Parts: sequence; C-alpha cells; structure tokens
Amino acid sequence: MEGAHLVDVDVHEDALEDGEAEQEDGQQHRLPRKSADEGEDDQEERGRRKDESEHPVGLDRGAAENVEADKEELHDDAEEEEDCQPVEEHSRLRHAGILPPMAVVTQREFGLFIDGETVEPASGEVRELTEPATGAPLAKAAMAGEADVDRAVEAARAALEGPWGKTPPNERSRLLHALADAIVANRKELTELETRNVGKAVSSVKGEVAVSAENFRWYASAIASIAGRTTPIGGSILAYTLKEPVGVAAQIVPWNYPIMMAAWKLAPALAAGCTVVLKPDPATPLTVLRVAELAAEVGIPAGVVNIVPGDGPTTGSYLVQHPGVDKVAFTGSTATGSEIMRLCAEPVKRLSLELGGKSPNLVFADANLADAVPGDPLDAETQMGSLISQAHRDKVHGLVETGRKEGAEVITGGEPTDGDGAFYPPTVLAGVENRMAVAQEEIFGPVVTVIPFEDEAEAVRIANDVKYGLTATVWTSDPGRGHRLARQIKSGVIGINLPNTAFPGLPFGGHKQSGFGREGSLETIEMYLETKTVFVSTGGKPVNPWGL
Ligand code: NAD
Repeated sequence: MEGAHLVDVDVHEDALEDGEAEQEDGQQHRLPRKSADEGEDDQEERGRRKDESEHPVGLDRGAAENVEADKEELHDDAEEEEDCQPVEEHSRLRHAGILPPMAVVTQREFGLFIDGETVEPASGEVRELTEPATGAPLAKAAMAGEADVDRAVEAARAALEGPWGKTPPNERSRLLHALADAIVANRKELTELETRNVGKAVSSVKGEVAVSAENFRWYASAIASIAGRTTPIGGSILAYTLKEPVGVAAQIVPWNYPIMMAAWKLAPALAAGCTVVLKPDPATPLTVLRVAELAAEVGIPAGVVNIVPGDGPTTGSYLVQHPGVDKVAFTGSTATGSEIMRLCAEPVKRLSLELGGKSPNLVFADANLADAVPGDPLDAETQMGSLISQAHRDKVHGLVETGRKEGAEVITGGEPTDGDGAFYPPTVLAGVENRMAVAQEEIFGPVVTVIPFEDEAEAVRIANDVKYGLTATVWTSDPGRGHRLARQIKSGVIGINLPNTAFPGLPFGGHKQSGFGREGSLETIEMYLETKTVFVSTGGKPVNPWGL
C-alpha cells in the first residue's frame, strides 16, 4: 500500500487552538481571564465609565482616552515594544497580581460607525455580548436596522462623489499606510479585544492582527499597480483604458477571523477608490469598529468606512439589495453565498464570494509525520480556543453524532466539555467513507475525518469528490509528487508540506462551491475596479471605425 491516510480536515485555526494553557504549577487556565481582584477593579472601572458616558451607546471618548492611558501605562512607547510581555505572559502576570488590568475595558458600549463617527442606532437595538470562552459579559454593541443601513450607504455615496473621489492614489496610499501603523500601535488592545470577543487562542489572534496591518500596508503599495493601457489599433484612432472604482461596496464577513476578514475586504476596496459599508457578524463586531475609529483618526474622510453590525437575513440582506450599493463582497457559508448571489442577480450587481471549504489533507506514507501532525498536547505552547457559541458547539457535536450513526469510529474527543465556555475537544473520526455526511459537509469545528487511500490516483479522486475547493495540503517527502498533485487537486490554495496559510500579495479563494473571486492580491483590486475603454479620433475628419 503506497499511501497512508487522507485526512479530511474541517478545522479553522481558531478551532484548533486551545485557550487552556498548562501552568507551571500544573493548573490549567483559560486565556484571558480575570482574577477576583481584577473583577473588582473592572467593576469600579465600569462604574466610572458609566458615569462618564451620557449616551447609552456611542464612542465614549473618555473611555477611549482612558484606554489609551492604560495602554501607555503598560507599554510606555513604541521603542519599548521589543521588551513588552506577550499578551499571554501579561495575562499570567495579571493573575499573579504583578500587572494592572490590560487596556481593554469590559462593558464598553459600542455604537455603529457611520459617516466618520460612532453613532447610536436608529434601530434602538443594543445587544449584550459575552465572552464565548467563559460566558462572562464583555461589551454592549449596537445593531443596525434598515434606517441605519440607508444612512451608511448615503454616507458612502457622498464620500465617493465627494472627498474620497477626489483623493489621488498617492494620498490613498499614504492613508492606508497610516492605518496600518495605527493598527500596529494599537495591536495589544485589538488582540485582547478580538481574543475575548471570539474566544480564540491569543497566539493565533496576535498573528491575525499583525497580518491585518500588513494587509493594509500591502494594498497601500499595490495602489501603484492600478493603471489602464493604451493599445495601438492603427489608423487615426487612439485607444486607451481607464480604471475606475466600482462605487459603493457592501462587504459582509463572518465570525471566525473578524479583524482579518475585514482587513482583507476593506484594504483592496479603499485602494481601488471605493467606499464601503461593512457588516460584521453580530457576535463579533468589536475589532472592526475599532479599526474604523482608527481610520477616522488617521484622516480617512468621513463616509469612506461605515460599519453596521446586524443580523444576516435582515440587515445583511437589506444591505445587499440596497440600490445604492454597486458591489457586494461576501465571506461566509456556501448556503448564504448562494442566497446573496440570487439577490444580486436581478440588478446584476458585481459580486465576489468566499465560501465554505472541506480542506483535504493528503498524507502519504513517505511524509514526515512530525511535520504533518504538529501539536504535542504536552507542549505548553499548544493552545486551542473556544468555538463562537454554545449553539455552534451543538451544531459541531450534532455532525459528530451523525458520523457515529453513519458508522464512523470516534478515536478521540467527540463529547462537548463541561462548563460555560463553548469548547469542543479535538476530535478524530476513523472508519470514514467519503460518501458520509462528515466527509462531505463542512463541520467547522476541531474535527478531522480519516480516510485511507492506496495510491496517488485514489487520493486525488477522494480529495476532489466534494463540492468544495478552498484549500488542500499534500504531505510527502517526494517533491515531484507534491507539484504533480498541486495541479490535479481542484482547490484555490494548495500547501505542500505546509498547513493552510495566506500571505498578502498571494491570491486566496475557492474553486467550485467555495466561491469565486480572490482576496489578498492584485486580483482583488480588480474586483473593485471597472475598466472603461476610450476611443479618440485624432484625424481631421470622422472615421469609419469598422473600416480600419
Ligand atoms: P454565514 O453565511 O451564516 O454568515 C456569514 C455572514 O453573513 C455573517 O455576517 C452573517 O450575519 C451574514 N449573513 C447571513 N445570512 C445573510 C443573508 N441572508 N444576507 C446577507 N448576509 C447574511 O456563515 P458563518 O457560519 O457565520 O461563517 C462561517 C462560514 O464562513 C463557513 O462556511 C466558512 O467556511 C466560511 N468562511 C470562508 C472563508 C473563505 O475565505 N472562503 C473564510 C472564513 C469563513
């Protein structure tokens, strides 16, 4: 038998990383969390901020300044960054009572971000967000309704036809660089906010925040690539093309990489000269609201970036159908993407879709298994965060149960953990056949399904026998095999001896029902541009163009 196993990985990094870190004293704790003393500190802090805030929601400027002050206290200046403790180390020191609480203030109230400022929602709806890893209250977040979307689209249109439309490319580039700098300067606050809001391991979130800044930086430079061309067609006609922003972009992102997905969407749109109304998932709006505040602080004109958290089937659907929206960019499930495609069909709206995946891992017998199966469970660095909610955990567990009923064998995991956090243990299902639901459906949790294969041809056949085509990985010590299979597997991204990754400048996106369009690259800017062809008669008399 040539092959070893085809491991069908249906896991996103968030689900793979454990929020429980082994302490030196042998105890486990989840990161981040608060000690009882800190809880009291937070209570005091909450009370103070409540007094300071006159409005039920909205940017509490006082709070923002206090956050800055807290941050300065912790991280005196940028030069000191090298010496700063990583966030998890900081959390440990907090537990030991050595350091004060971090910059993020629990119970902060977040409004919508429209026309350059934080505003109260016309909808009147404010939701309590809790930390999925602990169930503890985190923040209050305003939710947008139809009137809020109207206002955001109007602001985006006015900015497009006003200041942003008049901002030349080099100035757009400078502003995107400035936003990247601002994200870096505020990365500790953003990292903690995202970690608490999503329940992911901080080690993963740190990378995602850094990549988000890099993404803005990359597009700031890529603006230089936007250019039309002249094409010699003979006779007395001069022909050239212009690249123009497609207009107002509606962008919708999911909960699993909130800041990174938002950066992937915002940066190319702004680089192309579009304005944006972005709807984050209602459970995870916090970091992108902060990014919008930072965008305003660095000088990006009001109305260019608008953030309207809200439910998908109502607010999201209304935004997609809004007649003031020229282009829709969506990341989420295939079912929602299909519905959005339907909504965009009649008005022929520009559309790009980044959808679900079922990432096959082809592990050959000659693979270095130490590389293919990283994550020594005894390693203190191995961490895994929670899922986004108990409801999602139930969904993941439901699919594992389906697998059991279909005849799969649970080798490890397979039972939800106790407690308030939405944790699900890493789960391996063996004895899986590719026709089973667990092999065909996206589980979107820390679950792998293992299917044996005999040779390359069978491995490729199984890998391609699924409706998705987002990412795939080949583990082998034979370089020729790696390249060969990279051409044969129907997937937007292929890793050879490297887990799923993305890098600014390299296209990321799906084949088949994983969507269309590419993110993170020059191809993405094209999705936010219209091409216009201009013919100019340079002769003294009218010409018959078809007669040339
Ligand atoms: P989802 O489709 O339920 O929701 C995604 C977003 O769409 C959310 O903001 C939601 O509020 C909104 N939405 C839901 N229904 C809508 C509607 N009718 N109209 C407009 N907006 C609507 O997806 P999810 O379960 O929250 O996210 C996980 C999915 O995202 C998975 O399928 C995952 O594979 C996919 N994903 C894909 C990529 C990629 O790059 N291809 C990256 C991350 C996540």
